Amino acid sequence: MVFRVLFRAVIMGPPGSGKGTISDRIVKSFGLKHLSSGDVLRVNINNTTEIGLLAKSYIDQGQLVPDEVMTRLIMQELKKLEQHHWLLDGFPRTVPQAEALDKICQISTVINLDVPFDIIYQRLTSRWIHAASGRVYNTDFNPPKVPGIDDLTGEPLIQRNDDKPETVTKRLNAYEAQTKPVLEYYRTKGILETFSGTETNKIWPRVHAYLASKLPDVSRQEAANQV
Ligand code: AMP
Repeated sequence: MVFRVLFRAVIMGPPGSGKGTISDRIVKSFGLKHLSSGDVLRVNINNTTEIGLLAKSYIDQGQLVPDEVMTRLIMQELKKLEQHHWLLDGFPRTVPQAEALDKICQISTVINLDVPFDIIYQRLTSRWIHAASGRVYNTDFNPPKVPGIDDLTGEPLIQRNDDKPETVTKRLNAYEAQTKPVLEYYRTKGILETFSGTETNKIWPRVHAYLASKLPDVSRQEAANQV
């Protein structure tokens, strides 16, 4: 029987810490499958599924979706990725979610993006999107040519409900209260790797170097197991 060492990474960080961008780069550089809990929820919301409708009421208020709903949803998705190396983004966000995850797999490493809250607040509240295409603008460093208007279609830009200032404050408070204990949970297990900084482009090379040092082990063990 061929035993595969499957790489199971989790990426954590407050909303707006650059998790999405870093995840995309990890996936491109290392060929892991990417599962984002926020993306899974947004697909459900767009398809107006039962879970989507329920989730939207929490998300729009800057609250976390209840653990049982979230855990069931993510477990279903992870089942489809059983044979792959993966990177999980946005889950777990509470200790009960982390415990549920531990029951089905052994996490290899947890990448923690540590970005100061004041920087994040500024970043999130300046983010505007073109709803139809998903194009993202930032009024500070990537503004549209005409304020409030999409460059390509000329259609109006919108601010995601969860990027509105009052909601951002709630999301950051939820992170502090519910997700910080998850960092402790993984720190105690000795698998937490923290990357501090204010700019994604400066954090990324360090994350890359770290994963490059971890992933060859996986490839080598896989190769050895297949001989
Ligand atoms: P994100 O795009 O990861 O910031 O997720 C958007 C929103 O979805 C969050 O603000 C939460 O309301 C909800 N959400 C995403 N992942 C989880 C999770 N693991 N547990 C509970 N709620 C979640």
